[in-house]
Amino acid sequence: MKFENSLSFAQEMDQKDPLKSYRDRFHFPTFTTNSVRYFTGNSLGLQPKSTREFINQELDDWAKWGVEGHFHGTNPWFKYHEFLTNAAAKIVGAKPIEVVITHSLTTNLHLLMVSFYQPKNGRTKILCEAKAFPSDLYALESQVRFHGLDPATELVAMNPRDGEHTLRDEDIVAKIAELGDSLALVMFGGVNYYTGQVLDMESITKAGHAVGAIVGFDLAHAAGNIPVQLNAWGVDFAAWCSYKYLNSSPGGVSGMFVHERHANRPELVRFAGWWGYDKSTRFLMEPGFKPMEGAEGWQLSNAPILGMAAHWASLELFDEVGMDQLREKSVVLTDYLLFLLDELTAKYGDKCTFEIITPREHKSRGAQLSILVHGNGKQIFDAISEKGVVADWREPNVIRVAPAPMYNSFADVYFLGKYLEEAILEN
Ligand SMILES: *Cc1c(COP(=O)(O)O)cnc(C)c1O
Repeated sequence: MKFENSLSFAQEMDQKDPLKSYRDRFHFPTFTTNSVRYFTGNSLGLQPKSTREFINQELDDWAKWGVEGHFHGTNPWFKYHEFLTNAAAKIVGAKPIEVVITHSLTTNLHLLMVSFYQPKNGRTKILCEAKAFPSDLYALESQVRFHGLDPATELVAMNPRDGEHTLRDEDIVAKIAELGDSLALVMFGGVNYYTGQVLDMESITKAGHAVGAIVGFDLAHAAGNIPVQLNAWGVDFAAWCSYKYLNSSPGGVSGMFVHERHANRPELVRFAGWWGYDKSTRFLMEPGFKPMEGAEGWQLSNAPILGMAAHWASLELFDEVGMDQLREKSVVLTDYLLFLLDELTAKYGDKCTFEIITPREHKSRGAQLSILVHGNGKQIFDAISEKGVVADWREPNVIRVAPAPMYNSFADVYFLGKYLEEAILEN
């Protein structure tokens, strides 16, 4: 596509955008006196206007029914999580039996690793990325220690090659082959939170399985951002949070995926709770754990209904739009941002260079671009913030911006470029 650096071009793109009406279905922050340009949907997605109705429905039913709401409410709480499953499964390319919405992300990663990291007979190692989200690294380290092993030897954390910012898929595949039958688990972020890089999850899964390892992904930055086919790729397990691209309230509930090949394995070691117990006999409350089939068998607790309601509101929007349409817009929207950043670097390279550390190929990135600012990055970040841009600053000098295709416009992206240019000229 031929882009232009002008407001009229951006507005024309917005006019032609089949998703343009969705912008109005979200609340945009009002804390800044300028028009807000929100680019942190990768950190906390905006609030859908329908969220309030979804939550109010449950508050009303709680007021009206008390405990009876579990069975007599408009959306009975007893099976509330089931209302969310189909829409969530579509987002990650899974069958309904493979998905459950429950708990929080790090909790779910632990619960899944309890079942799927079983070091024994010399197969003890975990392959992960050195620059994983800190919570994931802590979870991995503590899982290794939980088995009485030493993370220093068992956790193999990959770094990019010298002078590069992102991992190469072929290096991950080669490392998996090299570790061979010492490898118990491969665990990566499907989209890296810092660089925005999308990994080739299908090839990594295939390589892991070829050496007999289990393969899991953290999809915190992938769910609702890029197309994912967990079932077809044969991924063993995955988890994601719902509050980033999925706009489901701060700290909102998490999604969990367990491939159907593991759906009927009651012998799998797991940490159990009553909500994972066979539904038909759960309320007999007998001792002896009988897990439900599929991902639901990993639930511990009854669902936090208000958070679930917020997630349902957002899932409804994703279901309407579908990941294909969303991705189609996302690719062009982020390409437009890339075009503007390249233009600024070409124009002002002697003062300030924007080095994009996110891979440029479409298949290796989602909505987010991570910009390494060579020059006075922090002043530039502060200057655009003052103009109403909400972006994310990571020390030492990376600005992360993610135009979310559900609600960001081409005009938003145009103004980001314009404010960056003004910031360069002023600083
Ligand atoms: C956002 C994020 C988390 C956050 O975990 P919570 O348990 O929801 O606090 C964890 N891992 C990754 C990769 C993330 O991007």
